[in-house]
Amino acid sequence: MNCINCGGKVVNEKCQYCGTINPTTSETKSPTVEKINNEIQTITNKIDAIKKMIMPESLKKNKIKELQARLDELSN
Ligand SMILES: [Zn+2]
Repeated sequence: MNCINCGGKVVNEKCQYCGTINPTTSETKSPTVEKINNEIQTITNKIDAIKKMIMPESLKKNKIKELQARLDELSN
């Protein structure tokens, strides 16, 4: 698996590159939930940013639609 922090390959829980303790695959669910929540937040922020951007309305709609679909995926 890859380190949740630096993305480096980790064999143990502790990343040899940055020292982050990575959650083991099935033991705890909360880190995954946290990760998903973070991603939801990131996407929500992106949508807000896009809404404020000056770009063609159709392009804007497409981008928001894409992100919205990702959000739906994550919240299921
Ligand atoms: Zn790392």
